[in-house]
Amino acid sequence: MTSEERAAALEAIADEVRACTRCRLAEGRTKSVPGEGSPDTEVVFVGEGPGQNEDRQGRPFVGAAGTLLQELLGMIGWAREDVFITNVVKCRPPNNRDPEPDEIAACEPYLRRQLEVLDPALLVTLGRFSLQTFMPGDRISRVHGTARPIDPSTGARAATGYALYHPAAALRQGSLKETMQRDMAAVPEVLIRARADRAVESSTDTRAPAEAPATIDPADTDAATAPDQPKDEPMTDSDDQYGLF
Ligand code: URA
Ligand code: SF4
Repeated sequence: MTSEERAAALEAIADEVRACTRCRLAEGRTKSVPGEGSPDTEVVFVGEGPGQNEDRQGRPFVGAAGTLLQELLGMIGWAREDVFITNVVKCRPPNNRDPEPDEIAACEPYLRRQLEVLDPALLVTLGRFSLQTFMPGDRISRVHGTARPIDPSTGARAATGYALYHPAAALRQGSLKETMQRDMAAVPEVLIRARADRAVESSTDTRAPAEAPATIDPADTDAATAPDQPKDEPMTDSDDQYGLF
């Protein structure tokens, strides 16, 4: 897919989300919040669901949690426009209650299709609902700051998952902010490994999980802080055309 095709595909999904009435969250919302960011990015951040500010504006992470997320991204030299930011549910749960399992299930196809279009190398989960969606069974207090492969059935066909606390948790509990800063500081390094994993997979004939190379080519290191990688090279339609770089 070219950049223009990806942008158009994401906009088509966003239009569906804006009109969606698949679950009860449609009743209480002001605007649904499809997500936004670079159609060319290698990195997707997935939060829980819109809060009050997001519901009013129809954009993800524009309240206090968004300000902290932006600050954390700034620490590694990234801007929110460099990545794609979305949520597990696209409409605000009443009074910011937790999303229900049937609401998450109803909304899942939108997130899956966004990930199919973006085909990220790295998927960063924000908070426990996003963690449960992509790396089920683990407690966030145990796995924050760690990476592992994502199940391709989520739509992210060859991505590394990396768990962060939710920025709103750090706003409630100040001691988590430092933890989040440490975890975020490792993201560029995790992206380098995620790229390497995809490159190894694309060069093998099987889809068996590939081991990360023991060393990282220093030539790659400069690129680590730039999550935008052009994906416009012509690609074949062959099923085993797995990686992009
Ligand atoms: N919290 C979330 O999980 N998502 C948003 O978009 C904003 C706050
Ligand atoms: Fe549709 Fe998702 Fe909103 Fe439910 S939360 S109405 S499934 S967009």
